[in-house]
Amino acid sequence: MNIIWTRAIVSLALLAALCVAIGAFAGVRVALAFAVLMLVVQGFFVTYHMQRLWRLLEAPVYGEVPSALGIWGEIYYRLHKLAKRWHAQVRQVEQQHARFIQAIQASPNGVAMLDDHDQIEWCNAIAEKHFGLDAKRDLRQHITHLVRHPDFVRYLNAHHYEEMLVMRGMGVSRKYTVSVQVFPYGDHRKLILTQDITELERTDSMRRDFVANVSHELKTPLTVLSGFLETMRELPLDEADRRRYLDMMEQQASRMQNIVRDLLVLANLEGDMRPPGEELLDMRAVMRHLEDDANNLSNGRHRITFHCDDALTIAGAETEVMSALGNLVTNAVRYTPDGGTIEVTWQRLKERAVFTVRDSGLGIPAEHIPRLTERFYRVDRSRSRDTGGTGLGLAIVKHVLQRHNAELDVKSEVGKGSMFIVRFPGSRTALRKSLAA
Ligand code: ADP
Repeated sequence: MNIIWTRAIVSLALLAALCVAIGAFAGVRVALAFAVLMLVVQGFFVTYHMQRLWRLLEAPVYGEVPSALGIWGEIYYRLHKLAKRWHAQVRQVEQQHARFIQAIQASPNGVAMLDDHDQIEWCNAIAEKHFGLDAKRDLRQHITHLVRHPDFVRYLNAHHYEEMLVMRGMGVSRKYTVSVQVFPYGDHRKLILTQDITELERTDSMRRDFVANVSHELKTPLTVLSGFLETMRELPLDEADRRRYLDMMEQQASRMQNIVRDLLVLANLEGDMRPPGEELLDMRAVMRHLEDDANNLSNGRHRITFHCDDALTIAGAETEVMSALGNLVTNAVRYTPDGGTIEVTWQRLKERAVFTVRDSGLGIPAEHIPRLTERFYRVDRSRSRDTGGTGLGLAIVKHVLQRHNAELDVKSEVGKGSMFIVRFPGSRTALRKSLAA
């Protein structure tokens, strides 16, 4: 028995002994009157504390322990301890709940919870975005009243949730493609998970387009080649015709070789996650090389000039830079009719190394300019093919420049010519001291 109860029992025993003593000395009536008086006092005492307890239970004040003597003091103290423990437990559960909600909110996927009547109980911000919902406003609404897409309604009602559903044109902007899957749980409740697959679908369709484009690009020269082969096998040809056919077959074979070469270059650039190197390039040699290539390709049909700052250089990968800038120069030669001019400059402007190719060629209609760096995108298909183009040159340029943090700017006017400007960042630009002096 604890000390409090011992004290209470001892007090009662003392009171009883006092009553007996009063009875012995002052008579039974006085003892009875004393006992009744004690009972009334005790009654008031108990009532007072019961009322305090009542008020305390109605509006508990955490951290405050009402003071009282004896057993009541102990009762208040224990109640206070219990309330403190509950309070701590409730706070812990609330914090866990808040963390859980934060975790689901942080998920890149949409999460929505439905009750047993398919009414929305809760959903995170991503599910709001995918379904075009408002978590507060739409709470307790039947989900099919808000997501009326017939495919979704059918899927939800069919109760076969093994497969996921792909929904296009989702969200308020109708621009999302979303995969949706339902997971039943608990008492006929449902968890809906959504995932934005817009980008995935886009890359998938790009991949399909790419495969179709490559097949198409290779199919044409292959068809021509096999046609010539058949002709050569079936028909008796004189030496001149045989030579002519062989030349044409060689042309088609080299076209296929060029396509495969550029595809490999692109694949290497795309797959290479390493930065392109920090070595300073010998840009004087690069420019000389570009000039020789341009003159060889033009074969005197154009007026070609190079104005280069010999001291100016950049940090990067030489073969990549050479191939990117070379593509721009050879394009200028290929898309400029005979007699035209091609002007190349390599100069430092506002701390940046700038490479410019200006031609007086065919020019490019404005609507084509944003798409020029797409693979196999051509403005003039037949001119591209006739001049040995693969449609991959500017895609390679784009990748190389991206890897060197450089930017490409294209200005063009139909019939007047084009200007391709490459700006390397200041962080890659340098001046060779010996030459600069
Ligand atoms: P291609 O091998 O066909 O030249 P590119 O990727 O190098 O492929 O260029 C894409 C298209 O951009 C070309 O087909 C051509 O229509 C256009 N183009 C590129 N450079 C020029 C230029 N200097 N003048 C006019 N058109 C150009």
